[in-house]
Amino acid sequence: MYDGPTRRVALAAMAAGESLNSISGRLGVSRATLREWRDRRPSGISADCPRCADGGLAERQYAHLLGLYLGDGCLSEQKKAVYALRIACDSKYPGLIAEAEQAILAVHPSRPVHRARAVGCVSVVSYWKHWPCLFPQHGPGSKHLRAMELAGWQRQIVAVHPGPFLRGLFHSDGCRVANWATRTVAGEVKRYEYPRYMFSNESADIIALCQWALALIGVPWRMPRRNALSVARREAVATLDLHVGPKY
Ligand SMILES: [Zn+2]
Repeated sequence: MYDGPTRRVALAAMAAGESLNSISGRLGVSRATLREWRDRRPSGISADCPRCADGGLAERQYAHLLGLYLGDGCLSEQKKAVYALRIACDSKYPGLIAEAEQAILAVHPSRPVHRARAVGCVSVVSYWKHWPCLFPQHGPGSKHLRAMELAGWQRQIVAVHPGPFLRGLFHSDGCRVANWATRTVAGEVKRYEYPRYMFSNESADIIALCQWALALIGVPWRMPRRNALSVARREAVATLDLHVGPKY
């Protein structure tokens, strides 16, 4: 897999008449790959993939979609090397479903987004050959049974947009819960709300990514259980309210 810029440089060099041998030596790309790029262009490789072609990427929305994908998303291969990206959403939250659709459309605007309904669940689905380019975490088996590390370019995007990434994580595998308590003050019973955020995931790697992104926005967390993270301090909850908020 090569970056779009490498491919662009190679195509420009071929157009300028440089030999395949020379370009291959200079860029470290095999001659077979160079020939493939030359011969399949422009109808072969999709021109709109941000990773293996020249397409742009809506990075803020991608960070959000990456959070949703790590929480409740999956890729599955269909016919002709097309992949389905599915984000499973609880049907109780139409806002979450609409946001998942918007994030997918921002990242892959040229195809429609579908809704597949099941009991209590709506999957937001989009078909594209290049979803694995954007989610290199894709692989066989459950996410918690394999490594879930971000590629360098993904980390760079999340480092710039930790808020949308956390929104995706907490809205898929987390929640904002409002705990109540009463206290008697000067003979009067008063009711207090103690909101907090919870995030649960069986993958230690995904929990670690959540912790990393929280640290980027200065939010402290605790781990009440191995697979559950809690944000409860008042200022920390207020900061997360700016980026995440309750599901709706
Ligand atoms: Zn691609």
